[in-house]
Amino acid sequence: MTQAVNLGFPRIGARRDLKKAVEGYWKGTLDAGQLLQTAANLRADHWRLQADAGLDCVPTGDFSFYDQVLDTTVMLGAVPERFEANEEIVSLDTYFAMARGTKDAPAMEMTKWFDTNYHYIVPEFTRNQEFHLASNKPLDEFREAKAQGHTARPVLLGPVTWLSLGKTKEAGFDPLDHLDAILPIYAQVLKALASAGAEWVQIDEPILALDLSSAQKDALQRAYARLSQAEVNLMLTPYFDRLGDNLDLALSLPVAGLHLDLVRGPSDLDAVVAAAPNKVISLGVINGRNVWRADLSSVLDWIEGPVTKLGRDRVVIAPSCSLLHTPIDLVYETKLDDELKSWLAFAKQKIEEVAVLSTALTKGRDAVSEALAASDAACKARKASPRIHNAAVHERLTNVTAKDEARATPFKDRRKLQQKKLKLPVLPTTTIGSFPQTADVRKARASFRRGDISEADYNQFLRDQTRDAIRFQEEIGVDVLVHGEFERNDMVEYFGEQLDGFAFTRNGWVQSYGSRCVKPPLIYGDVSRPEPMTVAWSQYAQSLTERPVKGMLTGPVTILQWSFVRDDQPRRDTCRQIALAIRDEVVDLEAAGIGVIQIDEPALREGLPLRTSDHAAYLDWAVTAFRLSASGIADETQIHTHMCYSEFNDIMPSIAAMDADVISIETSRSDMELLSVFADFEYPNEIGPGIWDIHSPRVPGQPEMEALLRKAVDAVGPEKLWVNPDCGLKTRGWEEVRASLTHLVNAARTLRADIKVDA
Ligand code: GLN
Ligand code: ZN
Repeated sequence: MTQAVNLGFPRIGARRDLKKAVEGYWKGTLDAGQLLQTAANLRADHWRLQADAGLDCVPTGDFSFYDQVLDTTVMLGAVPERFEANEEIVSLDTYFAMARGTKDAPAMEMTKWFDTNYHYIVPEFTRNQEFHLASNKPLDEFREAKAQGHTARPVLLGPVTWLSLGKTKEAGFDPLDHLDAILPIYAQVLKALASAGAEWVQIDEPILALDLSSAQKDALQRAYARLSQAEVNLMLTPYFDRLGDNLDLALSLPVAGLHLDLVRGPSDLDAVVAAAPNKVISLGVINGRNVWRADLSSVLDWIEGPVTKLGRDRVVIAPSCSLLHTPIDLVYETKLDDELKSWLAFAKQKIEEVAVLSTALTKGRDAVSEALAASDAACKARKASPRIHNAAVHERLTNVTAKDEARATPFKDRRKLQQKKLKLPVLPTTTIGSFPQTADVRKARASFRRGDISEADYNQFLRDQTRDAIRFQEEIGVDVLVHGEFERNDMVEYFGEQLDGFAFTRNGWVQSYGSRCVKPPLIYGDVSRPEPMTVAWSQYAQSLTERPVKGMLTGPVTILQWSFVRDDQPRRDTCRQIALAIRDEVVDLEAAGIGVIQIDEPALREGLPLRTSDHAAYLDWAVTAFRLSASGIADETQIHTHMCYSEFNDIMPSIAAMDADVISIETSRSDMELLSVFADFEYPNEIGPGIWDIHSPRVPGQPEMEALLRKAVDAVGPEKLWVNPDCGLKTRGWEEVRASLTHLVNAARTLRADIKVDA
């Protein structure tokens, strides 16, 4: 028979129970016993739910109090010295200290997990590091599930991925040098799991979806030569992209099973069938990265042949990757209409789909005819639904020409016109958009949403906030002002709520990092903008001052990147539709007298595909979408863009190709290091390197900002330089903002005077 398996289940709980419990424990309102109990209850519920939904075995070890990479780090005893743990078994408090820092020891770094919006804690390596088995979590959770009557398949993060994701804290060695030191610990864990009754262990090596160095390939060979000696079958599990040119390597490893992410890499299937491997093959056909209901009949049409060739007993059906990246259960979406809901599948529904497929392969389609009919009907209805198709949007896109995707005049000529119009000083000062989203602001929004205050009262409240922000900026002497974004909950949600083709869930939370969850919008249909979205706020703010107020928009790539995107057309096409909607907004802002408009694209870099060979195509359509959004205006209108902490090295030509008149970037945390990339590239347009790290409540003094600014002047010269913070100020308090922004403006003034003297 063909088994139904899952690679991992969301751990946050249907009501974000884990978030509440963990945060309660941090605050001291919950004790360790209560926290552990909540966690055990969640695991029990999730295993029961998955077994009831038809899985033949449930994953264990996929639970985490914070992050699965940190769990692995702890399992291997790789606690950095500054946490002074010296524990045989790492305690819960040390675990949280590593994630969040203490007053004496800064937290370990966090970064994005492959191309997802999940963030993991980065392992740290030193040359003479020692490792030991320092957690019984894998074994404990396997036993726990078994005691509850489940057949379980433990999940481990594989050694080569774990090492490859880490950071060396000393020069002169490669993290992969530690492979031989950690393999015995993996072997120990596998042995314990085997003795406890595990038949299979899932060992995740998502690194196999990347371009691999020869050292990594060699490490994979050495690792699995060793680990396959365990008395348990290993299901080697890559995901997030095709195996492609790593397929031969993956097939050559002496493991009992290999998983394929057939959503991202459908072409891997034929290649594997042709190789006729002596392995169990896991077909990851249900999309673990998106929320759409699968077309089960089409999937069966596709895989039945290959399954027959591979042998039905040598195949398992699975989601493409862990379901960590999808919301938990559609049953909680009481506000979504039935039509839209019938197009969706969250984690629980995806497991049901896996089970239907495995039953169809084992017993024939007749055994699941009802489920297949329901899936057929939903997919057919979705394809035909008038809610998805907007002929006017298609027509407009067909008529877009290259002229629409570029400013009419080259930057150097636009620049002269903009200087004439805006009359800004050298080293002009500005901010990135948001001012503090204080408790008052959030309270007013919540009251308005609940209906406790009227729209008129809410708008008056927002106007007051905006006016205060404008006055403050005028008082301290900022050159290009912002309205403050008080009306916005979130930089994507705010726009999505006003665009056609978007829907919002009530409870579609997914873990972003630690206890933080996000609720991405769903883009289900053709996108268009029925009405202006931001014009009234910008216009109001501009009416309060003689100085220019910058209009503030989120760019098409970022809106795409932070949403669940429809799967029935290429991402590129959806991005272009969003770009047209933003373009309309840019044009309307200009018509309303806004002469400076910022289109934020903090997610441009993170949308980069995992494989280098796919970069160029992505960058081409992403940059073009940005330009499409930014090019419908006169030369005098100044377009800004903003990007947060990113590696810019490999994408400089694309950033230049965006052709924004001004780009602001986050640089203060790296002590202007990131700016050197722009300097070396001789970035042609204007640039505002952040000189105030807004990620901490610390108020940097004026001399400190002056020093950073001097570095910037040295790097790129004063002519094209702007002065601004690293990012928006919404997470900061007013007191810090008042002090820091005053220092920033004064730092710019001091440098301006110096530059005059020099000249
Ligand atoms: N304009 C947004 C803000 O200031 C930009 C946020 C971001 O870059 N993530 O909040
Ligand atoms: Zn930012």
